[in-house]
Amino acid sequence: MTRIFVTGGAGYIGAIATHQLLESGYDVTVFDDLSTGHRDAVDSRAQFVQASLLDEDALKKAIEGAHAVMHFAGKSLVGESVEKPDLYMKVNVEGSKNVLSAMRSAGVKKIVFSSSAATYGEPTESPITEESATLPTNPYGLSKLTVDILLAESEIADGFASCSLRYFNVAGALNTGKKWLGERHDPETHLIPRVLEATENNPLKIFGNDWPTSDGTCIRDYIHVVDLIEAHLSALKNLDEKGHSIINIGSGGGYSVNEVVTTAGNVLGREIPIRIDSRRAGDPAILVASIEKAKKVLSWSPTRNLESMIRDSFQSSM
Ligand code: UDP
Repeated sequence: MTRIFVTGGAGYIGAIATHQLLESGYDVTVFDDLSTGHRDAVDSRAQFVQASLLDEDALKKAIEGAHAVMHFAGKSLVGESVEKPDLYMKVNVEGSKNVLSAMRSAGVKKIVFSSSAATYGEPTESPITEESATLPTNPYGLSKLTVDILLAESEIADGFASCSLRYFNVAGALNTGKKWLGERHDPETHLIPRVLEATENNPLKIFGNDWPTSDGTCIRDYIHVVDLIEAHLSALKNLDEKGHSIINIGSGGGYSVNEVVTTAGNVLGREIPIRIDSRRAGDPAILVASIEKAKKVLSWSPTRNLESMIRDSFQSSM
């Protein structure tokens, strides 16, 4: 059996990846410190190791026997990264270096890494291609870009085969047949779960309606988490050749915050209470991916739309 070492496998995206890997016939070792993940989200068929990315010995031990790595673990909140840049450099950059060093010790040469559209910063063009300038505007984006660069270097130094998938806005959930795996962040900052939580007493705050977009609210490219994991499985299969690639994963289209609110209202059959608030620091007006490379290199394209992301997020929150 082929064993995949999944860091962050107790988190939102990593737990769904773990389930889908097991369903595809892989063995899985999950490595997670449970700082933000949930033990009960980890499929019982997976081996589970609770330890931090900063614990080099634990990493080296747990990775033994793995064939490839899916590296999801890390800090992922833009706002928090601005307040605690050192934490982001430590966990995301030092932690990733430790993963690479454990791979080296164990002779594991394949890795799919969770990178981010935040590496591009304020985009200079739309849609964003993998050739677009990378000028991150916060420590989170910088930490992800640094790891992308390290992976490109590892290609030279160690003959690694690696792929950085640059996620746009991930949403939705997976019904495993036994339970729903979805977002359970605390605090929750992402738009779709917040839209679903909104009440008359606690309306959704829309962060600015004076952006240079068609309706004045920010535009983002939302991708269903199950489509995202399908891209990971394709990337993993594609890792036979030495070298590093960077691939955007989004839907290739954008929705404004207002459009997300309207779609959620239609899906839920009720009006979403909103309040217009001031702009959030660090938000670019428009982030939309070009997914031509993903289509070509991974023979992948997303099949789930915004309605299904909202419906699945809603089901998983019940
Ligand atoms: N947003 C909002 N209210 C919220 C959360 C998010 O208006 O309570 C907006 C945010 O300004 C951005 C979009 O929704 O334009 C997506 O934000 P999210 O935090 O989900 O993802 P990000 O784009 O920051 O990765």
